[in-house]
Amino acid sequence: MDTQIKTPETKSFEADVARLLHMMVHSVYSDRDVFLRELISNAADACEKLRYEALAQPELAGEAFQPRITLHADKDAKRLVVEDNGIGMTREDMTEALGTIARSGTRAFMERVEAAKAGESAQLVGQFGVGFYSAFMVADRVEVFTRKAGGNEAWHWASDGKGSYEIGEAQPGDAPERGTRVVLHLMDDATSYAERWTLERLVKEQSGHVPVPISLVEKPG
Ligand code: ADP
Ligand code: MG
Repeated sequence: MDTQIKTPETKSFEADVARLLHMMVHSVYSDRDVFLRELISNAADACEKLRYEALAQPELAGEAFQPRITLHADKDAKRLVVEDNGIGMTREDMTEALGTIARSGTRAFMERVEAAKAGESAQLVGQFGVGFYSAFMVADRVEVFTRKAGGNEAWHWASDGKGSYEIGEAQPGDAPERGTRVVLHLMDDATSYAERWTLERLVKEQSGHVPVPISLVEKPG
């Protein structure tokens, strides 16, 4: 294994990501509840991808794969964690997925928002599905800890959403045994997203169709 790749490094977002992030915070802010739908849908996709890959390589998922999504809420720490035991990501997967805009729909979305009048953009968020970067509507720092199915290494990605991100090796205990943990450091005006009743309501409203069980663990406060 090349040791250099383990060294943490800071990378700039692709220009379009920086543009999207700016838009998230300044234009489409009013419907920020959707961030949870997006993160849960990514977690469910990751479980689905693992289930599929395990058809050919059963050892990837272990015996009797039970996909799950767990929300850990800690209001005192102003923190919300969305965790899955799905496919996980390699370092390269993360650089590609969380540093560029791969989705074609996102570009269309950005064009629509830029053309939209004030007040119209919230609807666009609902229509397009804005993906992972919507986390920055509620968090001023986002960390991702991940370990790919079948791999040993765990990776850490972190950003304040302002142009760059850091990527490096994760401490062994910080990443799930397999899958992805997304940690949102909530903005002061977004701490309700670490409350049980808000999370339960949003999961019911937005993620009722998700085919993976979702559980909520609240730190007793
Ligand atoms: P989309 O889900 O439409 O591809 P997103 O912006 O929501 O777009 O996510 C971008 C990519 O980041 C995903 O396609 C996937 O490769 C990766 N990703 C995000 N969250 C996870 C996760 N929980 N597990 C594995 N990969 C993830
Ligand atoms: Mg997604």
